Amino acid sequence: MVGPSQPLPRLFGMLPEELCAHLQDHGVRANEGEARRYLAHWISHGQTGVPRKPPSRKFLDGARDLVDHGHLEVVERVTDPTDGFTKYLFRSPDGALSEAVRIPLAKEGCFTVCLSSQVGCAMQCDFCATGRLGLTRNLAPWEIVSAFCTVRDEAPGRVTGAVFMGQGEPFHNYDAVIQAARILSDPCGGRIAKKAITISTVGLVPQIRRFAAERHGYRLIVSLTSALPERRRALLPVAGRFEMEDLAAAIREYSEVAKGLVTVAWVLLGGVNHDQAEVDAIRALLGDVPLRVNLIDVNDAREEAEGGYRRATEVERNLFFDALQALEVPIVRRYSGGGNEKAACGMLAASHGATASPATRAE
Ligand code: SF4
Repeated sequence: MVGPSQPLPRLFGMLPEELCAHLQDHGVRANEGEARRYLAHWISHGQTGVPRKPPSRKFLDGARDLVDHGHLEVVERVTDPTDGFTKYLFRSPDGALSEAVRIPLAKEGCFTVCLSSQVGCAMQCDFCATGRLGLTRNLAPWEIVSAFCTVRDEAPGRVTGAVFMGQGEPFHNYDAVIQAARILSDPCGGRIAKKAITISTVGLVPQIRRFAAERHGYRLIVSLTSALPERRRALLPVAGRFEMEDLAAAIREYSEVAKGLVTVAWVLLGGVNHDQAEVDAIRALLGDVPLRVNLIDVNDAREEAEGGYRRATEVERNLFFDALQALEVPIVRRYSGGGNEKAACGMLAASHGATASPATRAE
């Protein structure tokens, strides 16, 4: 029950059955069909317009009084003129800042939205500006969905996907991210195909197992970046919490459920993680898993003299590429855009002290 001093639940964080139950709990005669039409109007807005058959007057009055329809405030939106990546900076009611990036896809007129899951991040990946911020708080489902709707409604074309690769580790805020993904994929929510929603994790083993067991249908990308335990721990400190074999076992479990290639992301760091030892370690760990590797060039906001990482040279990249191909692993080199406006992977904390990490063009 919503008491006089309790905040109202947020519309953008609700599924139809939840909205319906909430109104019924407060004495409003409501049915799920009305809740679906109401949410379709608000969340699918821009795609469906006003529903032909509006909910009853009682439902509309109840929803108006008992649910908060607020959006995140847009503080800034900046487009990188070289590649069309558009970075949004949002402010939540408590003042927290978070970001999303609209990414043009290879198919003209189509976009995906890179979403944040947290304000800051606790994972401290060594090459990531967000990691240096530390974690302020988790984002709530309504904040994630509100960011998506704003970016989608302003897109000069069709938004066909969403990727949780922004600020934060999505599996460190598991329940909220899954709830947001459910709303984004709901026919009266974001209307995005489940397979076009991608969740990226730095490798939290219990959550990968849970995700596999729950069979949500969203795609998972595991950021591996090194298959050598000591090097991986240095680059991704959270790796110290899990044995490499346990991570490999969790990836294997997911692979059995996903019934297709499992994508691992590899942030390529010049002079660091592109040697034969990495390829041998991948073969030993995951040689039996149908993998695909996404190579992402590092975008370190720091200079090399400040301890920043440089991008791999063409020679380094090609040698690694060739060695991986010997494993018969498909490799995709991801375009990491938005660098001029600090909207790129690993750079998004630069301008306002709170922002996301990867903005990497998906297919
Ligand atoms: S790369 Fe991702 S998980 Fe790692 S610190 Fe940055 S935002 Fe967090």
